[in-house]
Amino acid sequence: MDTAALETQLGDVDVSRWWNAERCHRALVDGEITAEQWTRLALTWAQEDELGTFLFLDAEGALAQATQLDRQRAGGETLGPLAGMTLALKDNICTLGATTSCGSRILEGYLPPFDATVVERLRRAGAVIVGKTNMDEFAMGSSNENSAYGNVHNPWNRDRAPGGSSGGSAVATAAGMVSCSLGSDTGGSVRQPGAFCGVTAVKPTYGRVSRYGLVAFASSLDQIGPFARSARDAANVLQVIAGDDPRDATCSSRPVDDYVGACGQPVKGMRVGLLRTGDGDEPGVKVAMGNAVAALKELGCDVVDVELPHAKYGVSVYYLVATAEASSNLARFDGMRYGLRVTGEDLTDTYNSTRARGFGPEVQRRIMLGTYALSAGYYDAYYMKAQKVRTLMAQDFEKAFVDCDVVLSPTSPTTAFKLGERTRDPLSMYLADVYTLPASLAGLPAVSVPCGFDDEGLPVGMQMVAPAFEESRLFTLAHAYEQVTEWNQRHPDVASAGKTTAGKASAGKATAGKATAGKGGAA
Ligand code: GLN
Repeated sequence: MDTAALETQLGDVDVSRWWNAERCHRALVDGEITAEQWTRLALTWAQEDELGTFLFLDAEGALAQATQLDRQRAGGETLGPLAGMTLALKDNICTLGATTSCGSRILEGYLPPFDATVVERLRRAGAVIVGKTNMDEFAMGSSNENSAYGNVHNPWNRDRAPGGSSGGSAVATAAGMVSCSLGSDTGGSVRQPGAFCGVTAVKPTYGRVSRYGLVAFASSLDQIGPFARSARDAANVLQVIAGDDPRDATCSSRPVDDYVGACGQPVKGMRVGLLRTGDGDEPGVKVAMGNAVAALKELGCDVVDVELPHAKYGVSVYYLVATAEASSNLARFDGMRYGLRVTGEDLTDTYNSTRARGFGPEVQRRIMLGTYALSAGYYDAYYMKAQKVRTLMAQDFEKAFVDCDVVLSPTSPTTAFKLGERTRDPLSMYLADVYTLPASLAGLPAVSVPCGFDDEGLPVGMQMVAPAFEESRLFTLAHAYEQVTEWNQRHPDVASAGKTTAGKASAGKATAGKATAGKGGAA
């Protein structure tokens, strides 16, 4: 069906790409729109995208899922909580029948023989998975520029980075191609691109969401988390994906709280601990944070000052722990079992040639750093020391939570930087993570919420961190804040960022999928 036919079918339904998941769900349940129509729209928006967002579009799978939903509705069956939600997945989350490249040449065209646990749960809840999104190779990066498949552009300004490593997922939601998306956050990779693109982004407590089927980067830090255009949409997604999984030994068996119900709970009297930060924040970030604090006070929150004395070691500790774990995790990509094989003169040569050709420069740099930090003579000096400081960082939070219920800071010291600006200086790139790393190292839940724009019209995000398994608190506060501000309702001008207008599917024809990895674009 072409877009004109779809438009005729939709008649007077005032459908918009900015409908949030709740709105689509209602439209579907009320029969205003069918799942197939909504899915075709999402696929069109994704196909017209010029921001480099998707690596793979699964038109066939998405439409099959939509048709099934329409059949269920016609048969009078109750629809799942996510029915009507179109969703994009970061390309390090395994999907049966859809390529999973991790943004790397070494896994180009790799087709996992199974769905990740989160994917199984999403499908069961009625979400329609549209495709797989671009990312920094193996989730290593803060700008998406480490992808082997090209840059992703920030929808607010195409010359800017979308953040990383889940840049594609952040953009898919921020530019209204899908209702929600999933990323993975090891040191900030959901929160920081969420802040750069102006969407709500959640990093759950370590162990809250199963990592089964998430290609491992740093196993003691990795967590899957949602991007959405409202706290409640994010809560809906987390509600479905969180919870015990016998296939992941680090996944907690604690019952999952009512996150959706937490949106709408009172915040009066909540103690917000404002993190004392250095002078490194950009002026636009400082102004937005000041206004956000004022809004929280207005809501009845008590704002107190808190300190995390060891947070300054976050970057050093993280880049030792994460690289060490990555060097071990990535040993499995040796040309034998997955993806690329470059046959050499002998076995060792095959390993070396495969890894030299398959891994990009940042991944190689990190494998070398991590191997060094773990080597016999240096283990105590680096890895062990880093683990000890990590414990001190967790204790900092414990002390802070005596005085407050959530810790507040900017998500990132800057707004979206220019593409290319930091690629030659890895250290400056690593410093983009100063605010997100402490919560990662302590295993705590955190959310980034849009809280304003700088002078150049780029979004600013604020980060809220809660004690372990207190995600509900974050949803309560984020939702309350969204009710009194309108930052999450501002949308980028996708007509100039991409080609599509924000209305019906009338802007231009869908072109063949732009997605490049694996089998190629949508049918
Ligand atoms: N930017 C950080 C890094 O490069 C965090 C990445 C992540 O959270 N996956 O490692």
